Amino acid sequence: MQPLGSKDALIVVDVQNCFCPGGSLGVEGGDQIVPVINDLLPLFEHRVFTRDWHPNGHVSFSDNPQFRDLSWPVHCVQETEGAEFHPDLHVPDDALVVSKGVDPDREAYSGFEAVTVNLARWLRERGIERLFVAGLATDYCVRSTALDARNAGFEVVLVEDATRGVAPDSTRVALQEMAAVGVERVLARVVHAAAEAAGEPAGRRRV
Ligand SMILES: [Zn+2]
Repeated sequence: MQPLGSKDALIVVDVQNCFCPGGSLGVEGGDQIVPVINDLLPLFEHRVFTRDWHPNGHVSFSDNPQFRDLSWPVHCVQETEGAEFHPDLHVPDDALVVSKGVDPDREAYSGFEAVTVNLARWLRERGIERLFVAGLATDYCVRSTALDARNAGFEVVLVEDATRGVAPDSTRVALQEMAAVGVERVLARVVHAAAEAAGEPAGRRRV
């Protein structure tokens, strides 16, 4: 792996209470990735956090009469505790927070579908070429974010031990789909090694 540099960014996908154990859509072990992500944050100059940020009655909710084939329990409703980031997650003051799924009639799994900011443009304007992806869940929003990032022309690296999936089968399929379009898979320690190779002392940046 190329040493880390200013052309790299970390995207942390949907590490919100609803997606952690005890939440309405809790992913098993979802909270265990929080310390792994916190340790990665100081290695990057550019950090993006996506969040599901739905209005009441969102089209993806199974209590919505228009619900489609794939619907979900009510989750991540704007300004509720469930929509907040996990309390132990460090969100640096200078990080970009991308809210998605804001439109009541449109689902958005990926930060690149957000209408609140054009994420691809935001990243390009900062010279970003390679994205490291972490968060929840591997088989849904992490998958969509990684695939959209590839479509937008970025190099993409999935930090596997900084993600968790909803179910083993869909996670396996998602990993295959990501690999098929050139998404690299590494463990967090490889990212730390790439930071050291660049002479970036871990912990230099404030988080
Ligand atoms: Zn959602």
